[in-house]
Amino acid sequence: METYDVIIIGGGPAGLTAGMYSSRARMKTLLLEKSAPGGQLSLTDKIENYPGFPGGISGMELVENMKKQAVGFGLEIASGDVREVRESETEKGKDCWEVITTGSQYTALTLIAASGGSARKLDVPGEKELTGRGVSYCATCDGAFFKGKDIVVVGGGDAAVEEALFLTKFGRQVTLVHRRDRLRASKILQERAEANEKLRFTWDSVVTAISGDKKVQSVKLKNLKTHKETDLSCDGVFIFIGFVPVTHYLKELVNLDDKGYIKTDNNMSASRKGVFACGDCRSKLLQQVVNACGEGALASYSAGQYVDELKGVAYK
Ligand code: NAP
Repeated sequence: METYDVIIIGGGPAGLTAGMYSSRARMKTLLLEKSAPGGQLSLTDKIENYPGFPGGISGMELVENMKKQAVGFGLEIASGDVREVRESETEKGKDCWEVITTGSQYTALTLIAASGGSARKLDVPGEKELTGRGVSYCATCDGAFFKGKDIVVVGGGDAAVEEALFLTKFGRQVTLVHRRDRLRASKILQERAEANEKLRFTWDSVVTAISGDKKVQSVKLKNLKTHKETDLSCDGVFIFIGFVPVTHYLKELVNLDDKGYIKTDNNMSASRKGVFACGDCRSKLLQQVVNACGEGALASYSAGQYVDELKGVAYK
């Protein structure tokens, strides 16, 4: 089995940027992605705060451009859901990592974790049973099914507000349910939400159950201040309450923070030599495409220095 210089786990903006930098630095690089490259970005209708695109660009188009650019420098991309990572040694006795996916096994001198996160679930009765039957975690994928319907959006961050605004293009009415009395989302999104006539807010409230026979018909709401419970009829429930990092494959190997994000130093190096992390799976203050890309570049540079040291060709 050939040994890669770098294996990148995850094909969102962080992973694709790391892949572009590593391939351009002439490191033999493989990027593993569970499904199609793009991560959360490919599910975003429009991104308007990535520099260089006044007026914004669709998430899918940006991802396609990133992929094309990285592949153009020689990045290999394979599909594979990473199950486990094990320490190993090359035939020449160098430290390396074995990456085990559902159907294959790969070896690399260094790893860059760029595996992002998956949507956090509400964990209330009816959510699981009605997923795909009115419950959704992706407005871009499912919004068009709710033309002229009543939609509930749960959450108060950038994702909830941005996606609620997008859903007003389809829904008769969109009700945003948030557990506080003000939004966490950025000010510009708040202004747009307040100005949108189709969007209304239910403050200080949580969804405690989702009901429906075969498809969503209503949600049960609980006001956290008055403790009053009410039922709200709706056809769709879109849940945007943050992410859970995908780091299970590294949890025995590197230090994670209390929420499961990978801790790194300023150069993106995790607590084990030869393992780096970037993007939304990394412990940090701000999750944006622009810093995911910057972290990908830095992780790749640091991985390159580590590989050169290991090969005894470092430029000192
Ligand atoms: P987030 O910023 O963590 O916000 C999650 C929201 O869901 C919060 O308002 C939180 O309430 C609420 N929440 C969490 N758990 C809940 C529960 N069990 N029940 C009810 N509500 C719950 O997550 P996000 O909006 O997905 O954004 C993730 C990151 O991506 C952020 O850094 C964000 O800035 C970034 N992002 C940026 C853009 C953009 O720049 N255009 C777009 C999307 C996402 P509390 O406020 O009470 O904690």
